[in-house]
Amino acid sequence: MTTPFAPTVTLVGAGPGDPELLTLKAVKAIQRATVLLVDDLVNPAVLEHASPSARIVHVGKRGGCKSTPQAFIEKLMVMAAREGEAVVRLKGGDPFIFGRGGEEVESLQREGIAVQVINGITAGLAAVTSLNVPLTHRDHAHGVVFVTGHAKPGDDGTDWAALATTAKDAKLTLVIYMGVSGVEHIASGLLAGLPTSTPVAIVQHASLPHQREAFCTLGDLAHTVREQGMGSPAVMVVGDVIKGVAAASHKTAQQARQAA
Ligand code: SAH
Repeated sequence: MTTPFAPTVTLVGAGPGDPELLTLKAVKAIQRATVLLVDDLVNPAVLEHASPSARIVHVGKRGGCKSTPQAFIEKLMVMAAREGEAVVRLKGGDPFIFGRGGEEVESLQREGIAVQVINGITAGLAAVTSLNVPLTHRDHAHGVVFVTGHAKPGDDGTDWAALATTAKDAKLTLVIYMGVSGVEHIASGLLAGLPTSTPVAIVQHASLPHQREAFCTLGDLAHTVREQGMGSPAVMVVGDVIKGVAAASHKTAQQARQAA
């Protein structure tokens, strides 16, 4: 008797960029895949693990192309899985941090497709780690908030003033994704609850050879982003964990990266 065929899709976190930050589980899933649907922030070097016969479909919006609509991506995954393909959905960072991974899991499960999710290192974590800065610290931060600067159309988005007050009272580090284009609005909201002197790090292209970082205070954030030309993909990390440690350690971290 043959085992009943169970269509499956694997959502794989490709990490922040450096291909050496992939998990072994991710590498194995990529190697096994016969079809890969790839987001635009995934480093092409990650695809070197794929079989030469695998079909690679780029579904991102960078490089001047319009992004593939989410519903179409979901449909493609369902069709390929039902045809017996080993489908991998490769997403930047971690699939469940602002990657619409949750929506994809729900839609696949609605169609009766089994789903497996493999974690990746999220950009916000890699960004501060590359500077030898922790997201939590017993003296400076009791916790961390990953927050998006970009809400879905029709959604008012984050109440930055309320978040700032909570961050101050509860000693939380804020890691802001997709925030550089709306930095003026975000910074002015945060200043309603956090001091102007709050230290901030902005990290662009975290974990890649062309990584750039800038340090400033919350009062200078919008100006610094514009002046330094920090663009997407970047994360902004706000909080006392950045204080001091940043100035001292980013130099040594940079040296270590260059030596690696
Ligand atoms: N799932 C991803 C996030 C996708 S949202 C993750 O876990 O990392 C896309 C946003 O992630 C970008 O706008 C940027 O804010 C951030 N990002 C992704 N890759 C990055 C990188 N290498 N360096 C800095 N920020 C990055």
